Amino acid sequence: MSAAAAKASPKPEHFDVLIVGAGISGVGAAYHLKTQMPGVKFVALETQETFGGTWTTHKYPGIRSDSDLHTFGYRFKPWVGPPIAAASEILKYMNEVIDDNDLGKHIRFGHTIKRAEWSGKDNLWTLQVERKSDGAMLRMTCGFLWMCQGYYRHSKGYTPEWAGMENFKGKIVHPQTWPEDLDYKGKRMVVIGSGATAATLVPAVANDTAHVTMLQRSPTYFIPGRNAIDIAEQLRALQVDEEWIHEITRRQILKMQDEFTTRSRNEPEAVKAELLAAVKLFLGEDYDIDKHFTPSYRPWRQRIAFIPDGDLFQGIASGKASVVTDEIERFTEKGILLKSGQELEADIIVTATGFDLEPLGEIDFHINGKPLKFGDTVTYRGMMFTGVPNMAWVFGYFRASWTLRVDIVADFIVRLLKHMKKSGAKRVEVAIPPSLKDMKLSTWIDPEDFNPGYIMRGMHLLPRRGDRREWQHTQDYWHEKDELPKIDLDGEEFVYDKAKVEA
Ligand SMILES: Cc1cc2nc3c(=O)[nH]c(=O)nc-3n(C[C@H](O)[C@H](O)[C@H](O)COP(=O)(O)OP(=O)(O)OC[C@H]3O[C@@H](n4cnc5c(N)ncnc54)[C@H](O)[C@@H]3O)c2cc1C
Repeated sequence: MSAAAAKASPKPEHFDVLIVGAGISGVGAAYHLKTQMPGVKFVALETQETFGGTWTTHKYPGIRSDSDLHTFGYRFKPWVGPPIAAASEILKYMNEVIDDNDLGKHIRFGHTIKRAEWSGKDNLWTLQVERKSDGAMLRMTCGFLWMCQGYYRHSKGYTPEWAGMENFKGKIVHPQTWPEDLDYKGKRMVVIGSGATAATLVPAVANDTAHVTMLQRSPTYFIPGRNAIDIAEQLRALQVDEEWIHEITRRQILKMQDEFTTRSRNEPEAVKAELLAAVKLFLGEDYDIDKHFTPSYRPWRQRIAFIPDGDLFQGIASGKASVVTDEIERFTEKGILLKSGQELEADIIVTATGFDLEPLGEIDFHINGKPLKFGDTVTYRGMMFTGVPNMAWVFGYFRASWTLRVDIVADFIVRLLKHMKKSGAKRVEVAIPPSLKDMKLSTWIDPEDFNPGYIMRGMHLLPRRGDRREWQHTQDYWHEKDELPKIDLDGEEFVYDKAKVEA
């Protein structure tokens, strides 16, 4: 059906709330809506044929979390395994959440939202949704959009253009589109990149490849450690309830993370020395840690991956894996020629070079007939956006687990929806109050504070921030967990429609 025909179809299906995506954020949103607002009519629409988002679309060997599952798991469902988990274990956990709470009937797979149009006249979102099974273009309406679409393009990763790529006789693979039948047994593999993906992939293939080389332009910080949390083990030995273990372990991890973040700002050299000492324990005094594992930036300017049991470093120490720190001059028939003149020969080159930012799930947004320029909006606490009514986005934390924010943003949205229901409001928008009209605006995040490649490449696509905490995504769970529940929903930042009955 064409877009015009879809527009004309008479009876769009209506929902009070429509959740975009069924990744860890979307499933969490469905749980909170169902349990905190029984009776609300909602649906989650998901492009993929199954739930999981990131944990379904990424299929490279070894795919696992880089943060602990006590905090990457939801607050309401204990995580009972080792803290760093494989994608399959995360999916099993999410599946239990869906089954235990009968959320399946609220999720529609193979449904892609193509267009979202807000009408201020009707106080409604109208969506055009493509149903994969028959290609039909459906029309749906909803009162509120709960955006859980993630933050990057799932269909294709980011690969820089290098000279001579077309000459390479072997295979070039991006981890985001890993061919399930890729045979790397006995092959020479070069993995370009030094982030969490490269650090996961290298140890996962090291035993099967002839050799695997991690080729990085510059080093990254890692935290190697035992894949276990002492306090969780101790409490389990005391036969404490899993609910309690989950909560206590979460609190301890979060407190330690908060201290680590503060120390990284206040005493970066001391933190750096500790991180490098941990790497040295695996690689020994003779290894060139300065060259390969000593970044030029201070800790926490980019996400730091936890390396369970130091497996990356064990692979290097065993000689099955190695690290080369150099720049790519060009690809050759046999592999990669480096600026130093060295040529790295390879059968398979993996470009673990990241992804492209995609803030709005590739949905064509219109507000009252005008295309939405998301980059021109200003964010209210990284959840709502000026000029965009009845919509909130779950954008998690960079330095802490994403899911921590899934729970607390859900509490906020539910509170907002209940507030609107009680007062009869059909529309809510955030607006910068007149007293702050001269507030200085800048980019979504301060590049001095956090600057991974995908954010730097895509910053213009993200809303702007002000110079007050309320008008920023502070990336600070430790304070947000107390601030969000106290937000005054009748504060001057919230503008409701006329229907609202004044209290
Ligand atoms: C390899 C990898 C490892 C990571 N590890 C960690 C980690 O250990 N800890 C951590 O905190 N963070 C990690 N992250 C960040 C991670 O993406 C988030 O933590 C989290 O999984 C994001 O969940 P989400 O549900 O918000 O988004 P996603 O997982 O991206 O899911 C969004 C879903 O929305 C769907 N969708 C998007 N647009 C539309 C549309 N228009 N219509 C219908 N459906 C749509 C997508 O198909 C997708 O299924 C990792 C990221 C990657 C890529």
